Amino acid sequence: MPEGKIIQSLSGYYDIEHDGEIYRCRGRGNFRQKKVTPLVGDIVDFKEGYVLEIKPRKNEMLRPPLANLDQGILVFSAVEPDFQPLLLDRFLVRLEADDILPIICFSKTDLADDAIRKEMERFAADYRKIGYEVLFTSAADQRNFETLTRLLDGKTSVFAGQSGVGKSSLLNALDPRFELKTGAISEALGRGKHTTRRIRLLPIGSGYVADTPGFSSLDFRDLEAKDLSYCFPEMRALAAECKFRGCTHLAEPKCAVKEAVANKEIPAYRHEHYKQFYEEIQGQKRRY
Ligand code: GDP
Ligand code: ZN
Repeated sequence: MPEGKIIQSLSGYYDIEHDGEIYRCRGRGNFRQKKVTPLVGDIVDFKEGYVLEIKPRKNEMLRPPLANLDQGILVFSAVEPDFQPLLLDRFLVRLEADDILPIICFSKTDLADDAIRKEMERFAADYRKIGYEVLFTSAADQRNFETLTRLLDGKTSVFAGQSGVGKSSLLNALDPRFELKTGAISEALGRGKHTTRRIRLLPIGSGYVADTPGFSSLDFRDLEAKDLSYCFPEMRALAAECKFRGCTHLAEPKCAVKEAVANKEIPAYRHEHYKQFYEEIQGQKRRY
């Protein structure tokens, strides 16, 4: 039975790519009884116009509905809108929790003055030290496009970030055939319409990129406070050196993470954001 990857869903039809060809299929009737829906990104068995089986997923995202994502390109502009480290850390935790590799893209660098550029360089150094890939991009002069193209090759990626940071412009600059709508106004109009959303994976090199930005909901409902530090790789790496097993890196004595913060090996803002998310998760639990 042929196996393929769903690269588009539209009004109950799934376009499956197999051996360079596209096959338009419907879901099998009993998917509905089993309450499973094929998702774009799924690897499936199909035959004679029907999706017959969905292979186990590596991960899945609700909005937009996508499966088997390898990486998330987190686009944050230096200005317009201004860079928000708290929001970047929120996205990073979300991706870490979902087992999606984050790539950080500081965009619109052509609009940044020297002071802002220096500030962004400092943030880039902090995040690179953690182990994240950090790129500076500008849709205007196509800076670092080769690097970005290389990172996207062979992977299934989703772009994420606030509206207006330049996600669509970046994608269009990577491949003008994408013809994605740019500008915050068109995005706002699109959201108001209650038409059936088409979800697509666009081919890029030997990989794919979702045509809709991901992670519109960034809550931590599925996370437990005790697991949060695993979503901060620099804290995860030190946890074994804390005196207490299961150290939350908040109030405990002889905490290797807090020592690293005191030594400035871990930036204070990372620990501060950790603390905020920790309290947020605890607050969620109390409400139930
Ligand atoms: P999205 O909402 O993240 O998809 O952002 P868009 O791609 O729609 O871009 C928002 C606005 O910023 C548009 O007016 C773009 O023309 C502009 N823009 C995007 N990237 C850049 C860039 O690298 N440099 C400059 N100067 N403007 C950009
Ligand atoms: Zn600790």
